[in-house]
Amino acid sequence: MQFSSIYGQEELKQKLIQSAVNGRISHAQLFLGPEGSGALPLAIAYAQYINCLSPTPTDSCGSCPSCIKFEKYIHPDLHFTFPTIAIEKKKTSNDFISEWRQALLNNPYMSELQWLMHLDEEGKKQGNITAEECRDIIRKVGLKSFEATYKTVIIWLPEYMKQEGNILLKLLEEPPPQTLFILVAQDADKVIGTILSRTQIIRIHPLSDAAITQALMDKSALPTNEAHTIARVAEGNLALALSLSEAGRSDYNQLFAIWMRACFSRSVDAINQSIDSITGTGREFIKSFLGYSLHMLRSALLYRYAPNQLLRLSPEELAFMQRFSFTMDDRNIPQLMKAINDAAYHVERNADLRITFLNLSLYISHRLYKA
Ligand SMILES: [Zn+2]
Repeated sequence: MQFSSIYGQEELKQKLIQSAVNGRISHAQLFLGPEGSGALPLAIAYAQYINCLSPTPTDSCGSCPSCIKFEKYIHPDLHFTFPTIAIEKKKTSNDFISEWRQALLNNPYMSELQWLMHLDEEGKKQGNITAEECRDIIRKVGLKSFEATYKTVIIWLPEYMKQEGNILLKLLEEPPPQTLFILVAQDADKVIGTILSRTQIIRIHPLSDAAITQALMDKSALPTNEAHTIARVAEGNLALALSLSEAGRSDYNQLFAIWMRACFSRSVDAINQSIDSITGTGREFIKSFLGYSLHMLRSALLYRYAPNQLLRLSPEELAFMQRFSFTMDDRNIPQLMKAINDAAYHVERNADLRITFLNLSLYISHRLYKA
């Protein structure tokens, strides 16, 4: 992966390149960026740049033997660790490496849930980075480097390493020479402190609307105005933007409108029916749908209290908002947003979808009625 195929983040790319050019490469770095910001592709591009045989001041060459292997994620000195699920005898990242390469080739901006669902379509199994995986990292680092300048270990989502992560402490503190660890995390609070304190943190910001618009136009051939609208909804998250563009934004709007009407009507039948249509779409769509729901609630808040700032709605959504916003106020919106965030957390962690949505719908129903 070259820097040029990564959207936005220009300032950070330059910083990374400078550190490589000046030989100031810290041996354990934590790329910390929210979902869809491009932290993983940046980590890969950085490792590729460091190992490129003829780098330019702005990018790796993309065509030397090292780059060619990096582009396919098959360089023998590039090692990946990522959450996996228990399937038959498969246990470590190595056992899933071909699925991983395929997923990266498909979409290097994939979300945690998209990856886990790539392994288990039903999305019911919990992801994990095991103690065995940590021992495997030690083994890989102990091997002689095949051909690279820097042997690189990229650990995607170290949030999954609990106490077993302590197996790696000594290695992170004093890795063998010419070894680079890049941990790619979304939430520093969920990375165990002993690991966090041994890394240098590189912060990655959410993408700009312009970068996301560009990505959508490149990848999904959307017209500019539609790409622009989705970019605004996605709020810097390219993984979400790509799912929204695939599903068709008006699907989300219709589903949301039906759901909210059902909650407002307090009819158990209507609520159950809307839950059926939502839960029938699958866990990954649901997570994007909840992201979309948050966007609609934020918009409702703006619509009521700062209408001049309301920029992020399509005509269809605006028509819905004109009526919907009357059921909303500055007291119930924050509570509803919190409830939806909690539900998204549970959806991602394999909770029963029906029960999650039933609880959420009843709560929304109650709050709407009070407004
Ligand atoms: Zn190269």
